[in-house]
Amino acid sequence: MKTAAAAGYDVQRVRTDFPALHQQVHGHPLVYLDNAATAQKPRAVLDAMARFYERDCANIHRGVHALSQRATESYEAARRALAALLHAADPREIVFVRGATEAVNLVAQSYARPRLRPGDEVLITWMEHHSNIVPWQMLCEQTGATLRVAPIDDAGALIVPEFQRLLSTRTRIAAFAHVSNALGTINPVRALVDQAHAAGAKVLVDGAQAAPHLRPDVAALGCDFYCVSGHKMYGPTGSGVLWARAELLEAMPPYQGGGDMIRSVRFEKTTYNDLPFKFEAGTPNIAGGIGLGAAAEYLLRLGHEAITAHEQSLLARATAALQQVPGLRLIGTAPHKAAVISFTLDGVHPHDAGTILDQEGIAVRTGHHCAQPVMERFGVPATVRASFGLYNTPEEVDALVAGLHKVLEVFA
Ligand code: PLP
Repeated sequence: MKTAAAAGYDVQRVRTDFPALHQQVHGHPLVYLDNAATAQKPRAVLDAMARFYERDCANIHRGVHALSQRATESYEAARRALAALLHAADPREIVFVRGATEAVNLVAQSYARPRLRPGDEVLITWMEHHSNIVPWQMLCEQTGATLRVAPIDDAGALIVPEFQRLLSTRTRIAAFAHVSNALGTINPVRALVDQAHAAGAKVLVDGAQAAPHLRPDVAALGCDFYCVSGHKMYGPTGSGVLWARAELLEAMPPYQGGGDMIRSVRFEKTTYNDLPFKFEAGTPNIAGGIGLGAAAEYLLRLGHEAITAHEQSLLARATAALQQVPGLRLIGTAPHKAAVISFTLDGVHPHDAGTILDQEGIAVRTGHHCAQPVMERFGVPATVRASFGLYNTPEEVDALVAGLHKVLEVFA
């Protein structure tokens, strides 16, 4: 892999694209390290959304007037940008949703619910975000299927032989994160997909935490469903994508009924629209979709190779420095990680650490990160999580470390 410098990555220039980064918090320059919760938005995204509201605001797909046609063209161009980012075979495979949570629920209810029977199994892993646990639990309650959970090791890596052992002809769906939000672990997706397919299961990959850090290439990953969270990949809140193979989407019933998802409505019988509109009932988040398209184009312009190299150097610097902080325990030390670092500090509640860091202008997340089984696995109620994005700098890593020394002074 090329280094960030070799790829011509200029983080200071990149930072000028993000207006929110240039502010003081409690008298200090903002150090924003809560990217796994949501990322800041580049000017390109803000401008695309403002352009829609200022110039093109109209409902899409049905209007004959100029504004509606411009809005429709922007929305469908956004879909093509997402297809390019995900390396999808066809923009018809891109379903706009509210976020990764809705994408998982859509697959659970539309693909899985009509197909699963008592005795069938859904296989997930111990490192999942609640949004890739609870929809499957609900599905199991509805269908009588059984949820199986593949364990993780003390470093927070999936125990792959256990995942394989839990796969059987009963497994109808395997659903797992590309990147863990609480641990940073990057799963060996292609190998897991191949194993699950060999058992006859379909595979959903929760890519919420992957798209900001790694190229989410569905063709290379070989999965059947891929869920993207717009707001974590520098796009607007309330936006996201479900990617699925066209033949699977064709075979699935609509998730919600309403306007735009129909071809014709009669009281005797309604027929449904073509892909992907069959899954987009009602007026969608038009500005959100357009903003997400701009985020996809932004990521494609910067290039994931350069982004990954830059973030990996931040991760290496942060991991080495944090290990020197007295009483700090890293939670999540898998060999393959994205730039997400969870930790605890002896004798300091994570919320107290987060509050003191905030006084220094440093934004981190504290809590269970919607991954309570992970917390339980590591025997902690909560962690501090610093998550890095494409605009963070080595100096911000150093600011975090200095901030943690302040925390220790307070609790000395
Ligand atoms: N999956 C993972 C791994 C996440 O980290 C999150 C959000 O934190 C989600 C899913 C839910 O994403 P969204 O906020 O887009 O619904």
